[in-house]
Amino acid sequence: MQPRRENVAMATLDSKLVGVLGDRTTKVLRDLYGYLTVGDLLHHYPRRYLVRGELSDISELNEGDEVTILAEVFSASSRRLQGRKGNILEVIVTDGSAKLSLTFFNQAWREKDLKIGKQGLFAGKVGVFNGKRQLAHPDYELIADGNDVDAAVEGFAGKYLPMYPASSKMPSWKIAQCIELAIGALDDVPDFLPELIREKYGYPTLHQALVQLHNPADLDSAEKARERLTYDEAFLLQLLLLARRKELKGLDAVARAVTADGLLKEFDSALPFELTAGQRAVSAEIENDLAQPHPMNRLLQGEVGSGKTIVALRAMLTVIDNGGQAALLAPTEVLAAQHLRTIQTLLGPLAHGGMLGGSEKATHVTLITGSQSAASRKEALAQAASGAAGIVIGTHALLGQSVEFKDLGLIVVDEQHRFGVEQRDALKGKAVTPPHLLVMTATPIPRTVAMTVFGDLDVSTLRELPLGRQPITTHVVPVLEKPGFLERAWERIREEVSQGHQAYVVAPRIAAGTSEDADIDFLMGESSSTLASVEDLGPLLSGGALQGLSVAPLHGKQASELKDATMKAFSNKEIDVLISTTVIEVGVDIPNATVMVIMDADRFGVSQLHQLRGRVGRGTSPGLCLLVTSALAQTPARERLEAVAGTTDGFELSRIDLEQRREGDVLGASQSGSRSHLRLLRVLRDESMIEQAREDASRILDGDIKEYPLLEAELAQIQADAAAEFIDKA
Ligand code: ADP
Ligand code: MG
Repeated sequence: MQPRRENVAMATLDSKLVGVLGDRTTKVLRDLYGYLTVGDLLHHYPRRYLVRGELSDISELNEGDEVTILAEVFSASSRRLQGRKGNILEVIVTDGSAKLSLTFFNQAWREKDLKIGKQGLFAGKVGVFNGKRQLAHPDYELIADGNDVDAAVEGFAGKYLPMYPASSKMPSWKIAQCIELAIGALDDVPDFLPELIREKYGYPTLHQALVQLHNPADLDSAEKARERLTYDEAFLLQLLLLARRKELKGLDAVARAVTADGLLKEFDSALPFELTAGQRAVSAEIENDLAQPHPMNRLLQGEVGSGKTIVALRAMLTVIDNGGQAALLAPTEVLAAQHLRTIQTLLGPLAHGGMLGGSEKATHVTLITGSQSAASRKEALAQAASGAAGIVIGTHALLGQSVEFKDLGLIVVDEQHRFGVEQRDALKGKAVTPPHLLVMTATPIPRTVAMTVFGDLDVSTLRELPLGRQPITTHVVPVLEKPGFLERAWERIREEVSQGHQAYVVAPRIAAGTSEDADIDFLMGESSSTLASVEDLGPLLSGGALQGLSVAPLHGKQASELKDATMKAFSNKEIDVLISTTVIEVGVDIPNATVMVIMDADRFGVSQLHQLRGRVGRGTSPGLCLLVTSALAQTPARERLEAVAGTTDGFELSRIDLEQRREGDVLGASQSGSRSHLRLLRVLRDESMIEQAREDASRILDGDIKEYPLLEAELAQIQADAAAEFIDKA
C-alpha cells in the first residue's frame, strides 16, 4: 500500500478515508467497522503494545502479568461448546522453555493463521484456567516464513508496536499501517476540549493524544493519551445528558400541586401504616417537582421492598386530583396484573369511581396488556381515552398506537432497566403537553452508573425498609458437599406452610432442554441439561418431599390467563408453594410468602438473586432464602453466592454484579446513541473521572456553551448521531 500523501490536501478528522487510503482498504474498513472518516479510524484504539526487545520466557510467566512472548505454534484445535452456541479455539505454543495455552472464543477462523510450526509474537494478560496458565484472546503478530522478529515488525518506526482489535480481513499490522498513513496526512486537529479543562488535568491536546496513543514515545505518554481520550468520552456524555436534562427542564408542563382535599388526602388518612421517613422525603421531592410548570424527570431507585409503589401511587393521585391521568408501565404481564390488584386494594373504595357506592372523589384503575380479550381491551381503551380511568396500568401494549389519553399528566415506569429511552418517549408522545415522568428501578445501582445511564434524570434514593420488616436470612446449600441439606430445605418449606405461610421454589429452566433468563457463564463449556426445571420439579416435589401441599407451576410460556389465575390463587393462599422461573423476579409482592428455595442458584446473576429473594420477608415474619448449588467451595460461582448470602445491601451487590459484566450490559438499553461513543470509558473503573467530568460539564452549561464553539459543534454532532440511531431503530 503506497501513501497517497502527495495528492491529498492535509486531512482533517472529518476527511473521507478514501482520500488517504486505497479504495480496497477503505471498503474493507467500511464493511467491517462502518468507518468512513479519518476520525473514525483514529478512534480505533490499540489494546496494548508489543515492546521491541522485551520478551518473556513462558516458564517465567506469572498470573496477571502483561507479557509478550516469541513462540511457535505446537498444536491447535477448536471445539463446539456444549449446550449453547459458540466454539473455542485452543492453541498451544512453546518457546522451548515451556508451553502455554491460548484461547479464542468464537474465532475459529484464526486456526487458518495459527498453523503448527508457525512463529509469532503473542501478547496478552496471563490468566489461569483449570490450573493452567493461559492467554485468553491474545494479540499476535505472525512472522512470515523465512523472516526474523525484526522483519516481522519492520515498517513500524517506534519501539512500541500497537496491537489493535483485529479480524481475518484486517489484521492488526494492517490497521497499524492505515493509521500511520492517516496520521501522516493529518493537519493540525482543532481541540474541542476547553483549554481550562485540559490544563486542569495536564492532558495533551487532541492531536497529541491521537498521535501518542497510536505511536507512543513511551508508555507514560500512551497512558496520558488514553486518559485524555477516556475523559473526552466521560465529558461529552455528561455534557449530552446534562444538556438534555436542561432542555427537558425548560419545557412547559401542567403544574399539578397537591390539593387541600382530594384523593391523596383521603388515601393518606386511610393508609394502614405510617410512611417511612425515606418515603416521606422522596414524596416531598416528587410533590415539589409536580408543582412546577415544567416536567418532572425523576429516577426513584430503591432497595428491594422499600415501598416504591406507594410513593408512585401518591404521585399518581396528586395528578388525578388536578384533573390529569397517570400511566404505569410495567415490564411483564405478571407485574402489570399485580399492580392492578395492589393498587385497587390500596385504594379500596377510592378505586370505585363511577360505581354505585364509590366515593365521589373516587377514580378508576384499568389495565391494558397485549394478551387481554378484545372486549376488555376495547373497554380499557375507551376508559383511557375518555379520562374515566385515572390510572392506566399496562405492559408494552400501552405504547401501541390505539392507546389514547384524555389528559396524560404523569408517566410512571416501573423497573426501568427493562425499558429504553425510546419507549419512554413513545409514551410521552401520548400527552397533550409534556407529562411528568417518574422512573423506578428495582435494582439499586452505584452512583456513577446512575449518572451515566440515567444522567438526564434527577435521582431520589430509598434505602430504608418499612419498620417491622424482618431481615431475610440467606444460606448456601451446597448439594455436592452436603447432600442432606437439600432434604432440610424441603422440610423448612413444610414447616413454614404448617404455620400458614407460603413458599417459592425457583428454577432456571421451564423444562429440560430449555432455558429462561438464566445467566450462563459461557466459558464453562459444560452441558446445562442437568439443570432443575419447573416442569420436572413440580411432580417430583408434589409426589415426594412436598407431598400433601398445594403446589403449582408458573412460567413465562404459560397463557396469560393461567399465569394470572395462578398468581391470584397464590395471593389468596390457595397455593402453598409456587414453583416458578424468574417471571417472579421483580416486583411480585406476596407478604405471606416467607421461604424461597432457588435451585441451581449459581446460574443466576448476583442482582437477580437479590431481586428474587426480595420476594420473601416482605411481611412481618422473617424471610429465608436458600441458594441450592452444585458449585464447589472456592470456585467463583460459589463465591458469588456467598456474597449474596453475606449481605442484603443491594447497592453493594449490584457493584459486585456489574464488575462481572461487560460494559454494554452495564449500560443496558437505556442510553442509545451515547453507547456507541464509549470505547475506553468503564463506568465502574472510571468513577472519579466520571464525577469530575460531570462537574466540569455542568460548569460549562451553567455558563454559555457558545463561548466554546468547537465543543458546541461536537455536542451537536453527537446529538445528531443519537437521533440518527433512534430513527434507525424505529
Ligand atoms: P418495592 O420498592 O420493592 O417495589 P413495594 O412497593 O412492592 O416494594 O412494597 C413492598 C411491601 O411493603 C408492600 O407490601 C407494601 O404494601 C409494603 N409497604 C410499603 N410501604 C410501607 C410502610 N411504610 N410500612 C409498612 N409497609 C409498607
Ligand atoms: Mg416494585
